[in-house]
Amino acid sequence: MEDEYFNPKTETMEREELEKIQLERLQWQLRRCLENSDFYRNKFKKAGIIPEGIRSVEDVEHLPFVTKQELREEQIAFPPFGRYVVSPQRDWAELHPSTGTTGVPVNTIWSHNDVKSISSWTARTMWQFGVRPGDIVQNGFSYGLWVAGMSTHYACREIGCFVIPIGAGLTERQIDYFINPGSTVLLGTPSFALYIAERMREKDISPENISLRLGCFGGEGGTEILSTRRKIEKGLGIDAFDYYGLAEIGPTISSECKEKNGLHWCEDHLLVEVVDPETKKRREEGDIGVLVITHLTKEATPMIRYWTNDYARLNLARCSCGRTHARSEGGILGRADDMVIYKGAKFYPVQVEKVVRNFKELGDEFRIELTTDEKRGTDLCTVVAEIFDQKMDRKMLEDKLKKSLKEELLVTPAIRLELFGTLERTTFKAKRIEDRRRKE
Ligand SMILES: [Zn+2]
Repeated sequence: MEDEYFNPKTETMEREELEKIQLERLQWQLRRCLENSDFYRNKFKKAGIIPEGIRSVEDVEHLPFVTKQELREEQIAFPPFGRYVVSPQRDWAELHPSTGTTGVPVNTIWSHNDVKSISSWTARTMWQFGVRPGDIVQNGFSYGLWVAGMSTHYACREIGCFVIPIGAGLTERQIDYFINPGSTVLLGTPSFALYIAERMREKDISPENISLRLGCFGGEGGTEILSTRRKIEKGLGIDAFDYYGLAEIGPTISSECKEKNGLHWCEDHLLVEVVDPETKKRREEGDIGVLVITHLTKEATPMIRYWTNDYARLNLARCSCGRTHARSEGGILGRADDMVIYKGAKFYPVQVEKVVRNFKELGDEFRIELTTDEKRGTDLCTVVAEIFDQKMDRKMLEDKLKKSLKEELLVTPAIRLELFGTLERTTFKAKRIEDRRRKE
């Protein structure tokens, strides 16, 4: 049983004990934010908060949220890093800005101690889905400024793995390494995993002839969707797990365990809440809301109640794997940044993905195109998918696809079927929405 966990004591401790640690760390964090950061000092003052007033982890609810927009404005007003940096410069180790997919990148800093704790929690999340000493880890996460390449690389050292720091790209070489030296673990984005599987099929390399046994995929939605997970598992002949993290909080902060029943959080490092987006109140256990995360141990750029814009739910019950740290079942259920509003309905690319990947006549790639109907001046939404067989009855397939999309999205988008291979493939995060609407 000892082999089950990376930090047996921490991962299986009773909730009461865990919350005691969380409270101590939260009070420590609030004190240092108050002492060293004008950004937080002003926020707390406005809200009338003193760290001593926080007597339980639930009391965190009285603290104001931090939003990405706020960090951006702070950074512009006080360049280059804003006043939310809490550690002195001599403690800084690495700079990791957000990807900037939704605007100007937000800078976050890891102190030398942060590097240690990020390495340690990532080793835990990797151990959780089955990585063990001696594994050959092919790290297909992008290295450099993007956070997940570095964190998983450091974690491989913690666990004692042989790591191939290939990064995102070099698809042919990725496949070569599956065969020689025979990588056993693959990390990357789900869209890249599917692309590698597609290339393997084209090259006629059977998953049975490679050594890969498991993979964990994050950076974008995908692995939490059953149809996508099955495609990755079948295409690469592996067990596939879901990974989650975000630049402002940290990479690889939660992964699934072998039970595949939700993302386990590292709750000794993070306080995770689920909040109603309208009332801004905490939601009940099991209810869906926005993930709001507080750093308990992060030194350099700690986030206090960071509004992630990602939707999930929490389950605090002990998992069948024995871990007591909360889980988000079904992973990330939607990302507010990706939300499409069309004819009054709101939906996410993951919902389109779920439908498209259930059609065996269609490839894995798809796009959601938003354009303006020039005649009417209204929005047009078109789902573009790829068909394998050029000669098939397109009309029938289009109708079937429309019907399934209507059921899932509650609106009917237009459909355009392209030939397999037409849409651009990605080694990083797939861009699912193409917004070409006329803006005035
Ligand atoms: Zn578990």
